[in-house]
Formats: sequence, structure tokens, C-alpha cells
Amino acid sequence: MVAECAFFYPDGRRCRRLPRRGERLCRDHRHLTSARPKNDEETFDREMTQAAGEIAAMPLDQMLDHLQQGLISLHWLIESRASTAERNAYTRATIAVSAAIDCVLEHPRVLASVLPSAPPEHIEYLLHLLRFAEPQVPPDPRLPDESAGPAEETP
Ligand SMILES: [Zn+2]
Repeated sequence: MVAECAFFYPDGRRCRRLPRRGERLCRDHRHLTSARPKNDEETFDREMTQAAGEIAAMPLDQMLDHLQQGLISLHWLIESRASTAERNAYTRATIAVSAAIDCVLEHPRVLASVLPSAPPEHIEYLLHLLRFAEPQVPPDPRLPDESAGPAEETP
């Protein structure tokens, strides 16, 4: 049997071109598993620190979409390289994120059913609060902003 390229496209199709003898990926997909240069690590750390802030600022539904897109982009790697246990863990993660998205999509119906007399704009406001709920108390806007430099002394 001839070995075909092990790359999977995001839609689940396999590449099927012929790799060089002894390799698992064809010429077009080999670079996807090449070693990362060392100086990329600093750039990576900087970009991911920025990404952490951007992701934390997303509403919950967008955050879950972001997570799902990340998992989808890894599908080819899991299908071509992961062990059975890793593939199981990955698949459970994709199921979990789909279930979480379904839960978020149910929020309007759940709120409307527990607050039947609430006006639609109140339901919308509560939904907005839930989508942006964070695990910590936001900084008090009445306090001086520490990131803006040393506060001026008031007499
Ligand atoms: Zn290929």
C-alpha cells in the first residue's frame, strides 16, 4: 500500500498526495511540522500575552467560538499524529465546547422562562451581563487608574 500524505483539511478531507519515502506529509504540508526557530519564542510569548487580553475581553459566546475555531484548526494534526488517548481527549474537548455553545444559546429562553414578566430590554441587559461576567471584580472607576502613572497629590 502506498503511503499518502497524513494532512487533514479543516473539513475533514485527507490530502492524499504522495510524500517522500519515509515521510508522513507531502511537500506542501511538511513545513507544518518543521521545528520552530528559537527566536520565534519571544515573538510567540509577546503575541500570546496580547491575545490573552483580547480573549479575556470577549463576550462568552465569542470566546467559545474562538475556542472552537482553535480546536477545528488542530483537527488535521490530531487525525494524523495523535495517539488514541490524545484523540479521545481532543474529541471530548470538541464535544464539550459544542455543548457549552448550546448552553449559551439557551440563555435567552431560560431567562425569559424564569422572568416571564420582565420586559425584553431587561432580558437583553441580563444576557449582556452574563456574556461579560468575569471571575473578578472590575476596578472601581472612582479610584485613580494605576496604569496611568503616579497619581497627583491632592492638597
Ligand atoms: Zn499533503
